[in-house]
Amino acid sequence: MKSKILLTAFLSVSLLACAQETPKVKHRKKNTPIKTTAQKVKFANSLDPICNMPTESDMKDTAVYKGKTYGFCSAYCKDEFKKNPEKYAQK
Ligand SMILES: [Zn+2]
Repeated sequence: MKSKILLTAFLSVSLLACAQETPKVKHRKKNTPIKTTAQKVKFANSLDPICNMPTESDMKDTAVYKGKTYGFCSAYCKDEFKKNPEKYAQK
């Protein structure tokens, strides 16, 4: 009767594996928020590189450098950035 014990053991193991896998799949689906990324424009910089102001809240001007969009609090900061973008651009 050894084979029957082995079979029940195998069945319970596979059932446990199944029970563990199901929540993982559900969790992955939850982790793909498409709406939030599409709604907001993302700047390459989280801070104005000239005056170190946060760019998320109040952006007056933007500049595109090497395919990345940088946000600035004013046209002055943008001009400063454009004078020397290598210095301020994020790597
Ligand atoms: Zn600024």
